[in-house]
Amino acid sequence: MPDFVDVPLPAGGAQASPEGNVRGRRATLFAIGTGLALPMLARAASGPRLAEDPFTLGVASGYPHPGGMVLWTRLAPRPVEPGGGMPAQGVPVEYTVAEDDAMRRVVARGTVTARPENAHAVHAEPDGLAAGRWYWYRFTAGGWASPIGRTRTAPPAEAAAAGLSLDLAIASCQQYEAGYYAAYRRIAADAPDLVVHLGDYIYEGGAGPSAVRRIPEPVPMTLDEYRVRHARYRLDPDLQRAHAACPWLLTWDDHEVENDYAASRSQNDDPPGWFMERRAAAYRAYYEHMPMPRRMLPMGPYMRLHTEVWHGRLARFFMLDGRQYRTPQACTPPGRGGGVPTDPGRCAELHDTARTFLGQQQRDWLFARLPVRPEAQWNVLCQQTLMQPAGLTWQGLPWVHTDGWDGYPVERARLLAALADARVANPVVLGGDVHAFYACALKQDNADPNSPVVASEFVCGAVTSPLPSARYVQRVAEVHPAVRYTHTDKRGYLRMRISATRLNAEVMGVTDVRRADSPVEVLARLEVATGRPGPVVV
Ligand code: FE
Ligand code: CA
Repeated sequence: MPDFVDVPLPAGGAQASPEGNVRGRRATLFAIGTGLALPMLARAASGPRLAEDPFTLGVASGYPHPGGMVLWTRLAPRPVEPGGGMPAQGVPVEYTVAEDDAMRRVVARGTVTARPENAHAVHAEPDGLAAGRWYWYRFTAGGWASPIGRTRTAPPAEAAAAGLSLDLAIASCQQYEAGYYAAYRRIAADAPDLVVHLGDYIYEGGAGPSAVRRIPEPVPMTLDEYRVRHARYRLDPDLQRAHAACPWLLTWDDHEVENDYAASRSQNDDPPGWFMERRAAAYRAYYEHMPMPRRMLPMGPYMRLHTEVWHGRLARFFMLDGRQYRTPQACTPPGRGGGVPTDPGRCAELHDTARTFLGQQQRDWLFARLPVRPEAQWNVLCQQTLMQPAGLTWQGLPWVHTDGWDGYPVERARLLAALADARVANPVVLGGDVHAFYACALKQDNADPNSPVVASEFVCGAVTSPLPSARYVQRVAEVHPAVRYTHTDKRGYLRMRISATRLNAEVMGVTDVRRADSPVEVLARLEVATGRPGPVVV
């Protein structure tokens, strides 16, 4: 039985009338053509009344396409209790999409059943909306109405780049205990078209002595525990504001499950069967809390989140997953997993051509999609971490960090070669993970000063997570001229505007991460002109 009934009304600005809504419902009943929808709609009208407000976690949207997007909420009156304070039964949730923020000009409506096995999460996917415009949406359930969220559709697929622009916020690494979400408060105020999140959305571990706020629960292992962890994060009002402000695209990194995990190998080298059960719990809780399409629903410990998202002919986003399918980190001492500082000259395994970062299937998919024509003006690879080589001599020893791309040099070379071979227009790599801002000119051969620049790389700093060693990052920039900008003093995010001729990035720094109302300032401005890869400080 489908757990979802979509009721698109004709888009185009007509004032919705009660009669119009009834017509929409009848149309859906005919479209489904089974008796199953009827009792469901009857329940929608007479679902259980809830004693407490179930919309404590806010609303979100994501993955815009020309006809619609994903609308998300989760019913959880008491979100940090197992079960979320909900009855162990399905509850009908109605969503409404309107052309105005007062929700008067309704253009779509539908009912989804929020089920206990999905933590009463809702992933609604209205379609048939008008391309390239803003919409507002709201959910109702059990006698309660959610906050109103703002979202938008992508422009028509064939819309020329020259007539389009796109404002982005790019964020990662938001250890809850390490600070307040002043960055998200500012993102919500910026009201971009899209937020791109590059991983470490939750942290499974604590922040240690530097914590400025607390999560009382221990490290999550089970599905209920990961759900509570996500709920702790999502109770933050500034994070809710940013989710309600515009659609998001997301990929994850390690901390959504466990620090430095790689495929089925945990950092403690736990039995893979046990760890895959933990991974399944973490993936499921992640899906349940994100505005992701229902096609991404995990199957046990597997969740396909790599996908591509177009913004007319202006930009194409590849959402990539560097965790789920990767070969475990090289030259890890016996009895443990995860990354280690490694001398690349003494680790033959690093250069093994069978090792992969993306996994063969995802890599084949990406390499097959790169040459697709007509292409977008900008082709943006959204992934977890720094791609620029960053190896150096540190405290007298040659050193690479094996958890990042430096631990997968063969795959990195393949990817850069694929971008060059496919003559992909204006490739841009976005990354997070390293808790510092970087802008780099990625070269086919980083060691050769005459090697051509293949792509422009931007790494956003952390929203809150602890800062790295400034000396180390400074040293990386000294050793590698392709690193054109770094910043290590502040948390924050990247603000980006993409137009047909230029990409402009602003490094947004949070003055005091211990305050939710901290000022956020522009620390630097960078630019890439079309046809000239490599960010330039302006
Ligand atoms: Fe992180
Ligand atoms: Ca990470």
